[in-house]
Amino acid sequence: MKNKITILIIASIATVIALSGIQAYLVESAYQLKKTAFLQETNDAISDIDNHPELDSLMDVLAEDLRDNLGDYKNERITKPEVIQKLRIKSDSINIPYMQRYDKELKTIDLGYKIRYKREISSVVLFNGKQTDTIFPIPTIKDGAILGEKFDNKDSHTIKTSRTFTEFSYYVTGENDSIYSKALDVEIKTKDIILITDWKSIVFRRLATLLVCAVLLFLFVVGLFYYSIKTLINQKKITEVKTDFINNITHELKTPLATLGVASKSLKNKEIRNSAEAFDHTLNIVDRQNTRLQKLIDQVLTNSLSANDIVLSKDTVVDNEYFEDLIADFKLSTQQRHLSIINNVCAEEVLLRIDTFHFTTALFNILENAVKYGNDQTEIIIETSLKGNEYKIEITDNGVGIATEDIAQIFDKFYRVSHGNVHNVKGLGLGLYYTSQIVNAHKGKISVQSELEKGTTFIILIPIN
Ligand code: ATP
Ligand code: MG
Repeated sequence: MKNKITILIIASIATVIALSGIQAYLVESAYQLKKTAFLQETNDAISDIDNHPELDSLMDVLAEDLRDNLGDYKNERITKPEVIQKLRIKSDSINIPYMQRYDKELKTIDLGYKIRYKREISSVVLFNGKQTDTIFPIPTIKDGAILGEKFDNKDSHTIKTSRTFTEFSYYVTGENDSIYSKALDVEIKTKDIILITDWKSIVFRRLATLLVCAVLLFLFVVGLFYYSIKTLINQKKITEVKTDFINNITHELKTPLATLGVASKSLKNKEIRNSAEAFDHTLNIVDRQNTRLQKLIDQVLTNSLSANDIVLSKDTVVDNEYFEDLIADFKLSTQQRHLSIINNVCAEEVLLRIDTFHFTTALFNILENAVKYGNDQTEIIIETSLKGNEYKIEITDNGVGIATEDIAQIFDKFYRVSHGNVHNVKGLGLGLYYTSQIVNAHKGKISVQSELEKGTTFIILIPIN
């Protein structure tokens, strides 16, 4: 059984880990999908912006300037880097109208979040038959930004690329100062880049419901596993306790029944019937065993009541007198010869409101245990004190003590500390259960402190009005 539970716990933990792995993977995929969808959405919304004629014509101005520069480059009037530098000077001059136009278009689209944008040249290559000449990018100039805002490309997104392949002509001065035109092919690649400053938080916000559901579901599954396993362990404990109880009660019933059997056989014996003394003696045995059986059954019956079912009929008693009587009665009832009870009841007289019948039985159970689980020289100290609104009763013995792992359970119904499977002292495990129920019914608290081989102290606190 224990092995099965361990396997179950391990399997549950493994399942939870696997489930959380799958869930993390699904959430990550959902995040990627949402991100792509969001970027696509932004892309679709702004893709038509540069179809505006005003922006087109500004681009035409730049294209023309680039062609002029390329002509100058071919005539060796400027160097390669200067082609782009000169283009930059031109683009700076048209950037303000370009941005104004772009911002205006963005406003009409009304995305609901802020974007920054720029256009970059990614390459300019001249073709002459099979020969190519790369004007841009070159080692000295890598940044191709020409229009729009200035920002770092980290975290930005390219939303559009374009490639134009055109023929352009330029004039060359030939021999005899003759001027003629020459044609060349040029390939220009550009890209439009945007930066959505808070795209991460926007995507997360869109994922919020999914994330919250995933976390809740995960917690729910973990809770469910925890609850199931806890219930299983509890059930197992209850089964064990019940088996124990059945063993104990069988054991307890056997002795009086066997004695009764022997007694009834003796009563059939003529010799015994003829002797009045022997007859009385046997009858007394029958009587005692009968009482014992009755007590046992009563004990089981009383203990099926819970604290709420117990009806108290309270009396007012003076603590000193009450404890004096209690000690005297207990000494009479026990057969332990070497028993000393030290009475340390607090000096000042306190009036207690208790149900004397139940409360006495409750304290008797503790005292009986002190004798049952004590050694040959049992010493019990009963100490009381007044703490604010509470009356504190401490009952200390010098017995075998209770191990820390058992302390939490000794007030449970039928719980007995097992020494292997053998209980060398008789009992049903009901005494302390009853005591705790009675203390609770008095709105009090009971606790225990113990050290193995040293002894045990039961502490009862009951409120005083
Ligand atoms: P019952 O009182 O029903 O005849 P019991 O004495 O076994 O049976 P409880 O009085 O409820 O049952 O006690 C529960 C268990 O707590 C006991 O089996 C015993 O192992 C342990 N215990 C209780 N009191 C003491 C004590 N003073 N010293 C050591 N162990 C104790
Ligand atoms: Mg007991």
